[in-house]
Amino acid sequence: MIEAKEVKITGLVQGVGFRPFIYRLAHKHHLKGFVENNNLGVRVIVEGNKDDLNNFTNDIIPESPQASSIEHINSKEITVRHFDSFVIEKSTSVSDAVTEVSPDISVCPDCLNDMKHQERRIDYPFTNCTNCGPRFTIIKDLPYDRAKTTMLEFEMCPECKKEYTNVLDRRFHAQPVACKNCGPEYTLYYKGQMIKEIDTITDLCCNLLEQNKIVAIKGLGGYHLACSAFHDKTIRQLREQKNREGKPFALMFRDLNAAEEYLFIDKEEKELLTGWRKPITLLKIKKELAPSISINLNTVGAMLPYMPFHYLLFDKLNIPAIVLTSGNISDEPIVINNDEALEKLGNISEAVITYNRDIHNRTDDSVAMVANKKSRVIRRSRSYAPSPVRLNLDAEGIFAAGAELVNCFCIGKGNQAIMSQHIGDLKNLETLDFYTESAQRFERLFRFKPEVVACDMHPDYLSTRYAKRLGLPIVETQHHHAHIASCMAEHKLDEDVIGLSFDGTGYGDDGYIWGGEFFICNLNDYERMAHFEYIPQPGGDLVTKQPWRMMLSYLYHYFGHDVLTTHARLFNGLPSRETEMVLSMIEKKINCPLTSSAGRLFDAVAALIDVCKTAAYHAEPPMRLESVATDSALHYSYESGSVIKMKKTFEGIIDDLNQHVDTGMISGKFHNTVVSIIVDQVRRISEQTKIKKVVLSGGSFQNRILLKKVEDTLNDSTFAIFSQSDVPSNDGGIALGQLAIAAKRRALGLI
Ligand code: ZN
Ligand code: ZN
Ligand code: FE
Repeated sequence: MIEAKEVKITGLVQGVGFRPFIYRLAHKHHLKGFVENNNLGVRVIVEGNKDDLNNFTNDIIPESPQASSIEHINSKEITVRHFDSFVIEKSTSVSDAVTEVSPDISVCPDCLNDMKHQERRIDYPFTNCTNCGPRFTIIKDLPYDRAKTTMLEFEMCPECKKEYTNVLDRRFHAQPVACKNCGPEYTLYYKGQMIKEIDTITDLCCNLLEQNKIVAIKGLGGYHLACSAFHDKTIRQLREQKNREGKPFALMFRDLNAAEEYLFIDKEEKELLTGWRKPITLLKIKKELAPSISINLNTVGAMLPYMPFHYLLFDKLNIPAIVLTSGNISDEPIVINNDEALEKLGNISEAVITYNRDIHNRTDDSVAMVANKKSRVIRRSRSYAPSPVRLNLDAEGIFAAGAELVNCFCIGKGNQAIMSQHIGDLKNLETLDFYTESAQRFERLFRFKPEVVACDMHPDYLSTRYAKRLGLPIVETQHHHAHIASCMAEHKLDEDVIGLSFDGTGYGDDGYIWGGEFFICNLNDYERMAHFEYIPQPGGDLVTKQPWRMMLSYLYHYFGHDVLTTHARLFNGLPSRETEMVLSMIEKKINCPLTSSAGRLFDAVAALIDVCKTAAYHAEPPMRLESVATDSALHYSYESGSVIKMKKTFEGIIDDLNQHVDTGMISGKFHNTVVSIIVDQVRRISEQTKIKKVVLSGGSFQNRILLKKVEDTLNDSTFAIFSQSDVPSNDGGIALGQLAIAAKRRALGLI
């Protein structure tokens, strides 16, 4: 007897080859009906006999495409309509198609297998299928179709065409489908030669890497620079050439086994590292690699191969790991253009390996970590962008400009927030161009027409200036409110919460620099309940490079103007001319904006215990402080209230230093002090307001010790704690918060 079922599947099921998968599954189980996308996910109508119907629904989860992620499957019996076939209903409107711009997906096991056995694809480095391959990086326009990607110029051979048009084939409508006979190819430039044979290219590349040379290799979203992860001299040379003094380099390991030999990898970290997104994953070092990879840190960013070329390379390479860092100079955007690569990276590297398919949308490798058993995105780019974040609010037509330093912007389509890939520091001219170009591309690609613009209150942010030039109704958001709103949006919260925003720098209502803030807030509004005591920040932004300036400022504030003599030992190694100059700046209040930033407090303590008196890259002092910390149950004293005063903490640390307490222990105690302050404040604010939901955001919550201890301590019974996972808690996630605030204010009729 024929029965009929309606199956509704929600989650990440659009733009990931889900409908063809359902088609093949329905066919396998002799079912008829159709599959379509709707605004909640995928809807399937199937008819057939009872056993087939059950087998069909049972197979959906275990056999689903790797890039999909199913939240719910709901199935119910319906009346039989007697379909005579099974079909895929096409998306009817462009707004449906918008959600189908898939992120790039790392090469799948089936394709790797084809590269060993399928004649047209033996060692072919552009092998892909519906379940894997480039997507966002090659797409120029919608609807997603080969002609609208950078695959346009490669005409399919008859065999590829057959796969592409056969709905039962794994490559059905895989837009970048290609083989040796018709697809793109690699070229290696080396000492005036141009080599096109893939086998020779990988041979030569391995030789060069094994001989400790630097090689530029075109990746999925941009060029990389590669060298052995075991030869410190080459790595130092790479630092010099790239003009990158201290910021850690990412590694690529041959496989999980190789990575496990050198790194500690727990269950959650393994899932993150080996999942289809293959982000750079921050992991603790077990066995030493070259010290210059991540100087003075106990962690390193590691990833596994994700392009066919990476696999071909490691098949032959006699070293288990290479440095694989973005192909750029200093803070410029990663190079994507072949001519530019030869010109700019050719000087740095011994050879340049390129291919003739264009990268349309530049995307860096994403960076993620596990903190308190949950994965946390730190840089959201390749394989994450442009996956939307679903909201409970209508965000149509809202453009959120983001922050300044690790900028991402965000657009609203219906109830979806689409975050851009990681853009970078807008103060760099080329990066600002990349921002403007990407914003325009998102408008075209997603058929987006901005009606309202949200931006930071900071008048000098280049993103704010860009937003204001659009000449549309504008919503200015306070930086830390936007951080909390970003986390609220991620968790679909739309109510009063206790919001903690800890980070480096953000423009406050009073014109001072905020960054250690306790709010009660909702998506529309906020009230500042407590903050760290204001301390002068001598030289403004310069303190991020010279954290000792914050140390001096705190010491001056708590111990008076003789601090350079009374605490002389703490200034060992710093030129007295400079310390005296900074002291006089503080005394005369010259270029000393006031700050309540938690980041600056961490800077001061890192300098004080001498783990980082000067910094080579953004956020180095707190990273080093976290890296040295040993576990302890102790903490220092402090004065809590609506203004949190740290004098007793500084006295405690100096006492410990005088008694030669180990710096790891001091750092551990300092972390506990901040945790204790947070717990006190949350309890106090909750007693006053009866609010039990606590939202944590801001770059300081990338500190794993801080995040874990705060969550564990507060999560006992009384409170529900929300922290960021899919969207960065640093300024890279702020555009989502700006968008949510603007959407809420519009819904309330305030715009
Ligand atoms: Zn595949
Ligand atoms: Zn072909
Ligand atoms: Fe921030």
